[in-house]
Parts: sequence; structure tokens; C-alpha cells
Amino acid sequence: MKILVINSGSSSIKFRLVESSSGEAIASGLLERIGLEQGRMEYRVRNGDKNVIEKPIPNHRTGLEMLLEMLVDPAAGALASLGEIGAVGHRVVHGGEKFTDSVAIGPEVIAKLEECSAMAPLHNPPNLLGIRASMDALPGVPNVAVFDTAFHQTMPPVAYVYPLPWSVYEEKRMRRYGFHGTSHQYVAMQTARILGRPLEDLCLVVCHLGNGSSITAVKDGRSVDTSLGYGTMCGVMMGTRSGDVDPAILLDLIENHGMTVSEVKDMVYKRSGLLGVSGVSSDMRDVEAAAAAGNERAALALDLFADKVRKHIGAYAVTMGRLDAIAFTAGIGENGPEMRGMICRGLEVLGARIDPEANRVRGVEKVISAKDSRVSILVVPTNEELMIARETERVLSKEGKPGARP
Ligand code: AMP
Repeated sequence: MKILVINSGSSSIKFRLVESSSGEAIASGLLERIGLEQGRMEYRVRNGDKNVIEKPIPNHRTGLEMLLEMLVDPAAGALASLGEIGAVGHRVVHGGEKFTDSVAIGPEVIAKLEECSAMAPLHNPPNLLGIRASMDALPGVPNVAVFDTAFHQTMPPVAYVYPLPWSVYEEKRMRRYGFHGTSHQYVAMQTARILGRPLEDLCLVVCHLGNGSSITAVKDGRSVDTSLGYGTMCGVMMGTRSGDVDPAILLDLIENHGMTVSEVKDMVYKRSGLLGVSGVSSDMRDVEAAAAAGNERAALALDLFADKVRKHIGAYAVTMGRLDAIAFTAGIGENGPEMRGMICRGLEVLGARIDPEANRVRGVEKVISAKDSRVSILVVPTNEELMIARETERVLSKEGKPGARP
């Protein structure tokens, strides 16, 4: 089935048209600067050249119509008719505790999604704009929501409850939710496939290391703990986000050092992490280059990054009571042999030994552990769009709605 996968942000729509059986990306691209004076759509059909159209895109609805027109364009398009689109799969950031699985979208689901918006005010409302635009532009085509948080809804209370007064959880539903769930789930499934073992028998740690990063403990195919929490600034250090810090520092900056709450928020989300410590960049490649050129703060930033990831791997091995494999994914995890090597230095204590030769890879699926390593270490490129397409198909077939047909 051809499934249009949509990731709708406040002023952008990322899309990919996926053939779910083969995983092939038939077309992909990005609409950006929606609502601004000059909009831009960039798209590619299969592996062809990138096309760019620049014109105002007043809202998400117009953006989606532009994208659909492009898909059936006789010269540059990918489809003979829009009837070939069997379903639309939407990435939705926050499903709260209401959504433990992907779900077909109808009026009741939209109402529940609106209730979840308060927990992800920057993400869920634009996701809903994309959903509404798609329902309007492709009437009769089923829509499915796939949540970043759903995979983590299997965590036990010991992983998701914060040791705060109980009312914080009970009345405000403030708890660990976790994010990047689609990526963690996809990489866990791929890891089991590569190792030729059932996912249900494995204890894995998935390290999604990109500009935003999170580590997940996956036991028997289920998320049992993850490093992102109620929000997206905790856990390991990231490009511009601090990860875990002592909240006393933040309170002190506000109480005694004249910073406002929004300044502190800006600091921990946008001016910390690799950028904050190195003073060079939020981009791993720049920080590695600076460290290689002798910049000591850049070198410290790399040490800190590796340390936080390594500690989470160790903690999760203990949580699961066993460790069979560690999988690296996302920008840094897939393309950064140096950082993978640094993280694994010290993991020998868990029985995990990297093979420095095998580790010299970027962007390809590969086992990179040494032959005598008890724990397998792998590079597994993530593919959230394909996972969303497969989830969309699974949900529709479960509900007996196999998608629209031409
Ligand atoms: P993502 O958010 O998944 O796109 O990942 C972005 C991060 O991946 C940035 O910090 C990049 O510097 C990093 N990255 C991309 N390519 C490389 C590379 N070849 N070596 C090291 N880091 C890389």
C-alpha cells in the first residue's frame, strides 16, 4: 500500500510517500516557512534530483494541496492519481497516557489529541493542523496517528513516576513519558532481525543519538525505561539541551542571579549541551574538529557526552538484569565512529567490546562488536517514516479498514 507519511511542525511539513511492502520511498520532501511571506517546497521523486518551488504557503491546508498537486504532476510527479494513496500516517509527538498504541483518527481521537496538546504545546497543535489538512484534502482516505510516546507506555511505574508529592502525578499527570519511541521501536526490531533472534528474548539498549538524544532499555520488545522524561531536556546531554542537571542550579539562577524563568528555559533548551560546554557548536562534527585541533572545552564536551550515554547504558543493563545488545542510531549514532568508540570505552565491564575496525562505518547497518564480545554492538540506521507507514498499515488491517483503493 502507498502511504503518505506526514510530520507536521508549526511552519513546516515533512513528508514521505512510502510503499509499505518494500519500504521504498516513492517521493519525499519538505514544505517550510508556512505562513511566512515566502514559502518553500523541496521534493524528490525516488532517487531523482531535488526540485524546489518557492511561493507563499499561507497555511498547512494549502501546503498539503501543493504537495498533492506535485505528487500527480504529469511531468515531475510520482503517481497517476491521488486514489493510489491508501492511507496517511501522521507523526504525533505526545499521546500522553491516553494513547498506548497507534490509532485510526476519527472525531473522538481528535478530541483526545486536543486534550494532550497542553503537554506538548509546541508540537501537538501543529501535528493536528497536518491531520486536519489531510482529512480535508484527501476525503475518504484513512488517517492514522503514530505517537512518539506510545512505545514507552509499557514502562513500569518505577521508571515513570518521579519522587515528587503524589499529587504531581495523580492530578497533573506529570511523569516520564519518553520520546523518539518510533525510532527506538524500529531500531529494536531491526536489531533482533540482524542478530537473528526473537525480539521477545532480548535485553537491548537503543542509543538514539542525534541533535536530540535518548537512550531506551528494551526488554522482551517493550520499553522498560528511557532517558527523556516529562519534557525533552532531561537524560543525556544533547546538541543544545543540557540533559540531566541539578535543579538547584536552575532555582538558584532564578532566585539569586537575576535570571527569569524564560531565560533559564532558553538556556537549558537552546544554549547548553555540546554548544554550551564547547562554546563552538551544537553539531558533533564541529565539536570533534575543534577537539582534534586542541580545543580543551570541545574535548571536555565530548567526554561529557560519552560519559552520560555510557552511564545510561550501565544503569539500564542493571535495570533489565541482562544486556544482549547495544544499538546506535540517528545522526551521531549512525555516522560518528569516534563518539561510538568513546562511549564503548569502559563498557568492557558489561561484556561489551567494540571492534575498532568494524566500527569504521557511517550510515550503514553493521555489527561492530569484537568476535569475543558477549554483548553485540550494532549500528542500525533508523527509519521513522517507514515505521509510521508500517504502523499505519497494521492499525488499518487490525480495524478491518485496509485503506482506500483506487
Ligand atoms: P540528527 O538530529 O539525527 O539529524 O543528528 C544530528 C547530529 O548528527 C549532529 O550533531 C551531527 O553533527 C551528527 N552527525 C552527522 N553526521 C556526522 C558524522 N559524519 N560524524 C559525526 N557526527 C555526525
